[in-house]
Amino acid sequence: MGSNSAASEYDRVRVLWTDLNGIARGNVVPASTFDRQREDGFGFAAGVAELTLEPGLLENSTYGPESGDVVAVPDAAPPIPLEWREGVGLAFADLTHVDRTPFALCSRTALDRVTAALEAAGYVPRVGIELEFSVLRSADDGGYEPFNDRSSYAMDALDRATELIDDWTDAMTAAGLEVTCVHQESQPGQYEITFEHGDPIEIADGVAFVRHMLTSVANQHGVTASMMPAPYTGADANGMHVHLSLWDDALETNAFAAETNDLEFPSGTRPDGAGISAVARHAIAGLLAHSNALTAVCAPTVNSYRRLRPGSWAPVSIAWGPDNRSTVLRVPPHLGPATRLEFRLPDTSSNPYLVLAAVLAAGLDGIENQRDPPAPTTGNAQREEHERLPRTLWAALDHLEANEVVARQLGEPLVESFISIKRDEFDRYQGAVSEWERETYLDAF
Ligand code: GLU
Ligand code: MG
Repeated sequence: MGSNSAASEYDRVRVLWTDLNGIARGNVVPASTFDRQREDGFGFAAGVAELTLEPGLLENSTYGPESGDVVAVPDAAPPIPLEWREGVGLAFADLTHVDRTPFALCSRTALDRVTAALEAAGYVPRVGIELEFSVLRSADDGGYEPFNDRSSYAMDALDRATELIDDWTDAMTAAGLEVTCVHQESQPGQYEITFEHGDPIEIADGVAFVRHMLTSVANQHGVTASMMPAPYTGADANGMHVHLSLWDDALETNAFAAETNDLEFPSGTRPDGAGISAVARHAIAGLLAHSNALTAVCAPTVNSYRRLRPGSWAPVSIAWGPDNRSTVLRVPPHLGPATRLEFRLPDTSSNPYLVLAAVLAAGLDGIENQRDPPAPTTGNAQREEHERLPRTLWAALDHLEANEVVARQLGEPLVESFISIKRDEFDRYQGAVSEWERETYLDAF
């Protein structure tokens, strides 16, 4: 992503970095001083990179008030325009120490490192992301209600949101993101937006931008865009599926593609016989082997586990299959040069840099160790006997804590801080008595 405009084309520039929770943080500076200031980076207390979702420092944080500054150093690429905010540009930043050595809690740097490890092994990754999210409006009772009462692919849902969709897609196009599709998802008020695949950092930056843009543009229109995974009880929720392919240096040969096929696709074998390669199978095996640990990163909130339930379009167990949406890992039917794996575990509340880093790390481990996947499933994996994905954030964090591959690739300090933040979040949830509990237990005993 990028544009040819220099900072001087803007009045102001926002500097964005993404914390471990996936929250966009940063500041805004006059464009006239941006170039001078970017040399020094934009400083803040290191502990800010380790915040919980509630304001305040994490208890027992690694970086307390005594830890001094780190700096957000904007990327060398020119800022991109925030089309809906006239005169404002946006720059993505890496976090470093004041002496420019990498800061352990920078998720963007972690993704860069894992991408480099994969490239050192001879594979250039290409990733794509599908973003599902909920649009809500104010309800008469003072709360929120879905923006519409439509479902999957309803054309009139597009009609009702024409101005929103125009502004979303214009903003993405202006920022250099090639929008591939917008559609109404299965639930009232739920939309999905996709854009062209690319290099992992470019795509993670794209997701950070789109999330900032969606909420900001929705507010301008007097509605709310939410990336909370499951806003409604018992309804399909907001996934953030990742598509992955691996290429040679020249981006000419897709290492996942094969000329012969032994997979049974529901729509039948392709006439040209194309299928997936041994490298793709090793990557699938790596992703499945680490799915339990990846759940903590890909489903990082208490609410995420309302999404991973049987009877929905989200995965519940560790299985894979050709064009099989009941599994955690679908092999889409687009083969040949378009061969890719779709990892369906992540939801929209997750940090896109960490999700991609964890996905690449798991795939790389499968390839390096020539892991073999179990047999693919053609049935409904939700109804078959497969290992269940962790059912709570706490259980997923236990798997992440025990996983050496993810810790080595993402960096142990980063994974440790992530686990502390998320255990703190779970404890707060665990300490709160819910409406469901009162309704179920109050007059039962
Ligand atoms: N909303 C579903 C999820 O949470 C996915 C629906 C689809 O297959 O696009 O993953
Ligand atoms: Mg979808």
